Amino acid sequence: MDCLFCRIAAREIPATVVHETDTTLAFRDISPQAPTHVVVIAKRHDTDAVALAKAAPGVLDDLFLTAGEVAKAEGIDDSGYRLLFNTGPDAGQTVFHAHLHVLGGRPLGALA
Ligand code: C5P
Repeated sequence: MDCLFCRIAAREIPATVVHETDTTLAFRDISPQAPTHVVVIAKRHDTDAVALAKAAPGVLDDLFLTAGEVAKAEGIDDSGYRLLFNTGPDAGQTVFHAHLHVLGGRPLGALA
């Protein structure tokens, strides 16, 4: 298994897990870009969110539901937060395993 996030899902590589469901795992980003920066991954392997949507749309729903639970637990559900999928190299995707960034805890400004 050479996929980093598959190895985190299998608990072979440590991560600070904040939420888990049957299909998803949420952990703190090791290089946080905001006071709250959590990565929600699918436990199954697909290269990006669109591939996941094609293969298992229900699991894509689960990523959003887990993100909502994380936002509530982090206390940012009222103030607001950003949900972000980097998709492909030009977007800055570095780990080719579908994952949803949950960013919040400060005003985030406009997207570039
Ligand atoms: O969207 P992108 O592929 O760039 O996101 C990958 C994210 O995974 C990065 O924000 C990076 O900091 C994070 N990461 C992590 N733990 C690791 C390796 C990467 O939280 N062990």
